[in-house]
Amino acid sequence: MKVLVVEDEQKVANALQEGLEGERYDVVVERTGEDAFFRMTTEAFDLILLDLGLPGRDGLQILTTLRSKGIKTPVLVLTARDTLQDRVAGLDSGADDYLIKPFAFAELLARIRALMRRGASETPRLGVGDLTMDLITRKVTRGGQPVELTVREFELLEYLMRYEGQVVSRETLTRDVWKETARTTPLDNVIDVHIARLRRKVDVDRPVKLIHTVRGVGFMLREGEP
Ligand code: CA
Repeated sequence: MKVLVVEDEQKVANALQEGLEGERYDVVVERTGEDAFFRMTTEAFDLILLDLGLPGRDGLQILTTLRSKGIKTPVLVLTARDTLQDRVAGLDSGADDYLIKPFAFAELLARIRALMRRGASETPRLGVGDLTMDLITRKVTRGGQPVELTVREFELLEYLMRYEGQVVSRETLTRDVWKETARTTPLDNVIDVHIARLRRKVDVDRPVKLIHTVRGVGFMLREGEP
């Protein structure tokens, strides 16, 4: 599989290249918007990893132009801009998924695999049982009823849905959702409070519970008891 990595930070670009080549991906790196755009319009790739903050033309401009030319290569946006607005804009411009920096390499690989399975054309949407999450409009519903979530609750639920049926530890959530990579101890209390709020919004008064505590390990989202 051929991957184009568009990233201006040398260290990040090198780490991505080495990591992906270690997974047997064929990797090409471009460091400016112009070079990247030229490359992606003249060569075929199976996937583009696109940083948004680039010198010259930025990632969103490139993405918009790429899609307007009818090029449908799946694009996974890698961004440090974690504001809600930027993310929605990123997906609206034709991104297939996004990952907020910093991220764990294993998380990137999981996203790439999911993207390759799903194909590029579908709307970025997650669903578990009667729970749905639209990643563009950021609307969440359970049994057709809207569920109102804060930004953090949304991110937490998104993560649990992406890892449906798998145990997610508090350590993982601290790193991947709260982005506290330097912490040596997980944010247990903060996480538990957010899980409790999510449960109230998603599971209360429902015969089928989706959010489960796996004692001593973490949490799992799935239909029915784990
Ligand atoms: Ca950058």
